[in-house]
Amino acid sequence: TKRVFLLNEGNKDMKMLLGGKGANLCEMVKLELPVPPAFIITTDTCLEYFREGTGDLPAGLDYEYALKTLEVDTGKAFGDPKNPLLVSVRSGAPASMPGMMDTVLNLGLNDEIVQGIIDTTGNERFAYDTYRRFLNMYSDVVMDLSKEPFEEVITEIKKKKGVKLDLELDASDWKQVVEEFKKINPNVPQDPREQLRGAVLAVFKSWNNDRAIRYRSYNGIPDSWGTAVSVQAMAYGNMNDECGTGVAFSRNPSTGEDKFFGEFLPNAAGEDVVAGIRTPQPLEEMAKKWPEVYGELYSYQDKLEKYYGDMQDIEFTVENGRLYMLQCRNGKRTAKAAVKIAVDMVKEGTLTPAEALLRIPANQMDFFLHPTLDPKADKTKIGEGLPASPGAATGKVVFNPDDAEVMANVGEEVILVRKETTPEDIHGMKSAVGVLTALGGMTSHAAVVARGMGKCCVSGCTGAEVDVRAKTLTLGDQVIKENDIITIDGSTGDVYLGSVERRSAAEDGDFQAVLEWADEMRELKVLTNADTPEQAATARSLGAQGIGLCRTEHMFFDPNRINAMRAMIVSEDKPERLEHLETLSEFQRSDIAAMLKEMDGLPLTIRLLDPPLHEFLPHSEEEMKTVAEVVGKPVSVLEDRVAQLKEVNPMLGFRGCRLSVVYPEITEMQARAVAAAAAKCKKAGLDPRAEIMVPVVSTSRELDLIVPRIKAAVNDVLAQEGVELDIPIGTMIELPRACQTADDIVKIKDVRFMSFGTNDLTQSVWGLSRDDAVKFMGRYSEQGLLDNDPFERFDEHGVGGLVKLALTKAREVDPDVKVGICGEHGGEPGSVAFFHKHKFNYVSCSPFRVPIARIAAGQAAA
Ligand code: PEP
Ligand code: MG
Repeated sequence: TKRVFLLNEGNKDMKMLLGGKGANLCEMVKLELPVPPAFIITTDTCLEYFREGTGDLPAGLDYEYALKTLEVDTGKAFGDPKNPLLVSVRSGAPASMPGMMDTVLNLGLNDEIVQGIIDTTGNERFAYDTYRRFLNMYSDVVMDLSKEPFEEVITEIKKKKGVKLDLELDASDWKQVVEEFKKINPNVPQDPREQLRGAVLAVFKSWNNDRAIRYRSYNGIPDSWGTAVSVQAMAYGNMNDECGTGVAFSRNPSTGEDKFFGEFLPNAAGEDVVAGIRTPQPLEEMAKKWPEVYGELYSYQDKLEKYYGDMQDIEFTVENGRLYMLQCRNGKRTAKAAVKIAVDMVKEGTLTPAEALLRIPANQMDFFLHPTLDPKADKTKIGEGLPASPGAATGKVVFNPDDAEVMANVGEEVILVRKETTPEDIHGMKSAVGVLTALGGMTSHAAVVARGMGKCCVSGCTGAEVDVRAKTLTLGDQVIKENDIITIDGSTGDVYLGSVERRSAAEDGDFQAVLEWADEMRELKVLTNADTPEQAATARSLGAQGIGLCRTEHMFFDPNRINAMRAMIVSEDKPERLEHLETLSEFQRSDIAAMLKEMDGLPLTIRLLDPPLHEFLPHSEEEMKTVAEVVGKPVSVLEDRVAQLKEVNPMLGFRGCRLSVVYPEITEMQARAVAAAAAKCKKAGLDPRAEIMVPVVSTSRELDLIVPRIKAAVNDVLAQEGVELDIPIGTMIELPRACQTADDIVKIKDVRFMSFGTNDLTQSVWGLSRDDAVKFMGRYSEQGLLDNDPFERFDEHGVGGLVKLALTKAREVDPDVKVGICGEHGGEPGSVAFFHKHKFNYVSCSPFRVPIARIAAGQAAA
């Protein structure tokens, strides 16, 4: 096996083997861009390292010949004090995992070689600055020592000199820093080859550090990929004022504006930009300072963007006026930018609408459904930073990622406030509704990661002082403490005291254009799960083509209705039940009529009551008392009845159509309410399209019993009202037995559609409780037993097999039977692709997922 590749041996399509970074370096060489010579160790070699488990480099890995090539290409020699070659050793996974894994720069230095650098360059400051960077990084990354003592040395020396910036330290200061660093860690190997071996091993290992594992699980990147390692000749941005380093985007990654955009730091090394140690300057400054270099960079970004057909994220270094390209990749961008770039690229003729649609991260589109600040709202501005990731958020201030996680877990909305963020903060950023940092530019860690997550972020907040120990944020004379509420606007960079009124961004013209493409391309209809007229109205405004699931039991969650529902459930005989049903029936009739009005001309699928008893029985003493009053019985009698009804396993209990089998009067009431509401709407000149759906069916015989009852009740009401209406009846498929016998089910007279309830189907196929799974499934994910939570992402392999079986059986009986899905998976983009592939007629999802499902359905068909 070939374990090592030179840059002229690979190309952009070899990401799995060479990592994204490595593959793109190869491609830039093909495009004749100035890339420092490098070689790449493959991802397979990293996997070999883990498989062998010796802790040493895999047997058979030999990169000496490649190192030799680097020496020839640079005219320098690794380990030669007279003409030293220094290298960077970087990680590079097949999918971008910014900042999650390890990197060592300036490798190949030792006490003798640093002198060699002074002799050859005559630049003592540069030599010691570089050496201290190496000692610090190697100690941290390879030897796992804390960074703090190293940082303290620099802070101390700056304090002594009375200066603020690293730039103000001179050669003798850095020489002293190097001496101190060697005291803190005297064990950095002096042998450059030993250093290289250590760094390659550290990069391999970093594939499995905690933050990388977390990042992968959050972003759905398989653990089985491994990272490549690139070993590249250093280009120095920190030699003098004719050097520098920067990060650029071919378009604005925050807004999507088609304008070359980026930041650079003169006389600095790459890590200084990303770490937010100094606030970098915009590229416009570089254009003034080094017009030729800027011109060259501009032409490369343009070339790369056209070549890749996507917005590029570029890292570069300028060494003595010479530009080097260190990395290019398709840039991460905000949801807003993704949409704008897609629409612009179609306008420019770079992409077809189908290609552009496929670039849209459907999952992030809820950004457009979440609010931005209302410009007219009253507000007190207390600070201003960079608009690092758009959107607006209000929340309680927290100062560390663990607190953010703890508070988010109990439902608090928090803003994570940090000096700057590092990869250790990821879980806190994920938990927070927004992120505010005092330092760092538009390309700082906080900004990049927040954009990737679709979280709003203000970075580099001018004048902000964050004291993590005291838990305070000081902005001018305002001191914000933990739990104080602030609002941040990631689109403007503004920070406000307290909460500020927000409004929806859904009208964004570019977003509407993307939805239109999706609507034109998709074959699936997108319906919604809605239980109230308000939800129905919201869903329709978001493009729902009807209601695929109205959970009638949810119509009674309202505090002044729930007791009527409870009274009905605890009824001891039919007359009692009928009395409470009458109350429920009135609520139902009026709600359904209102929903039919909202959905005029579109289907409204009303599901018969499906109340898992544990969700509805009274629990507390207070509830017992109230219900006892409603039913006019002593509390003790009620308690007995509740005890009688309690089930050990309520999700497998007396719910769904089992209620209809035992208490036909409930179903009759519901069917009559639906028919009456529809008749009323029809008489008012509307076009009501009510449908009735039977849940939790396990045998076709249940339907044989229930469907004629529904039909009779509906016909009776329609006849009384003198109205002619078609009210189709269908069934949910949410148990394995229903899948297995779907042919029998479709054979039942008057069964006209089936809708998969993938929540219950997942629960029953896995034998895994919907309500309790979260308590232990985390441990499954951690140990790699699950790629996805099956309740979140449809399990094609397991549950999907049964769905396919049901489809085949049902379609044998009736090839045109209408098929839908109304479990939570209906709004999950990856799952929608499955339903498209198997020719479902519709997916039905919660109102705010409707636009996402529309896009996902379009992508599936594109
Ligand atoms: C389902 O089981 O997938 C479903 C839609 O019904 P519910 O979630 O109400 O059980
Ligand atoms: Mg269900």
